[in-house]
Amino acid sequence: MVKAVVGANWGDEGKGKITDMLAKEADIIVRFQGGANAGHTIVNNYGKFALHTLPSGCFYGHTTSIIGNGVALNIPVLFKEIQDIVAKGVPMPKILVSDRAQMVMPYHVLFDQYEEERLGGKSFGSTKSGIAPFYSDKYAKIGFQVSELFDEELLKEKVVRVCETKNVTLEHLYHKPLLNPDELLETLHQYKEMVEPYVCDVSTYLWNAIKEGKEILLEGQLGTLKDPDHGIYPMVTSSSTLAAYGAIGAGIPPYEIKKIITVCKAYSSAVGAGAFVSEIFGDEADELRRRGGDGGEFGATTGRPRRMGWFDCVASKYGCRLQGATDVAFTVLDVLGYLDEIPVCVGYEIDGEVTTEFPTTAKLEKAKPVLKTLPGWKCDIRGIKNYEDLPENCRKYVEFIEEQIGFPITMVSNGPGRDDIIYR
Ligand code: GDP
Repeated sequence: MVKAVVGANWGDEGKGKITDMLAKEADIIVRFQGGANAGHTIVNNYGKFALHTLPSGCFYGHTTSIIGNGVALNIPVLFKEIQDIVAKGVPMPKILVSDRAQMVMPYHVLFDQYEEERLGGKSFGSTKSGIAPFYSDKYAKIGFQVSELFDEELLKEKVVRVCETKNVTLEHLYHKPLLNPDELLETLHQYKEMVEPYVCDVSTYLWNAIKEGKEILLEGQLGTLKDPDHGIYPMVTSSSTLAAYGAIGAGIPPYEIKKIITVCKAYSSAVGAGAFVSEIFGDEADELRRRGGDGGEFGATTGRPRRMGWFDCVASKYGCRLQGATDVAFTVLDVLGYLDEIPVCVGYEIDGEVTTEFPTTAKLEKAKPVLKTLPGWKCDIRGIKNYEDLPENCRKYVEFIEEQIGFPITMVSNGPGRDDIIYR
């Protein structure tokens, strides 16, 4: 069976933890989109890890970790990540890389930096990992597929051709040093050596695995609200964050995705610019940020402080709907135990009218949160294993949100560890 683990919000919902947990019963974990721009934080018996490219199931001996064709593959970053986890005592994971995955090139990272510099105050708050230039090139059909590393003639010719166009922009728009095709070719030869042992025809591999009844997890990065089509465009990421894209980014039939586990955090956080209706500021935000996640809400890749807010029923209902949630995993609930009362955003007021439907960006910018305040439970709920053992106000919080979003919360996460989970 194929299951997807995806985010309902702006990312950082705790997908890594849920994937790591579900990977215990899985054979294969596939990353199907995104790149090394966002990270998953995982706490397990080997320690605490921030993964950027490796799937979150790579800590188990029995799983195969796959980089799907939809991923922006940064080969040196992938190899550094493998070295880092192995150095911390994790057995060498079984890794397969799609021959159709495209590679983040050193110039993608540079173009990302140069463009942010050029935009100055109007920048997108990119993590400067080269993701937007990478996907632009993929769709402009000047990207480099892993399979192309193995065709020297093609590679030589293409490197020259691509450098020509890149150098025009470098010279005239950014006024930066030009690319040297020979150096680039040499870099690609190194990438070839690094990646060769792992290259695989992933869609055939997965087709056979599905036929054999293997358990497969598709691991999403970021969340619905960062999807380029359905998110807060243009403050979005450059590849689809939706479970539906899992079929494309892994190369499997869409009808094989039977469960869509949509991870939804018990409060809101976001990185980068863009409308964030339930955002809070000042001391209130600082305290939630400090207590949030596991050791504070700071970016796994960049260390940037995350923007904080109350739970947003409008955004999360939309987020779950666009994912096609079959199950909601409601995470980081334990963090809210310090609050006397917990505000929840139940509607958006836009031009004097209240709506519960998530609008397009220009309207979203005008939205003001309609808040409802629920009583807190004022205790530590970590370690609790049964839903009935949660304090009454805590259960009421979960049930209120479940009703507002309209999708079943089947899992409640009450701590960062693998076993901190309550099934309903
Ligand atoms: P992802 O990108 O969706 O995987 O999310 P991140 O890894 O960026 O953020 C989730 C953070 O919350 C990580 O530091 C996790 O260890 C932590 N976390 C996940 N679930 C829980 C939970 O239920 N309680 C607490 N306290 N922390 C959690």
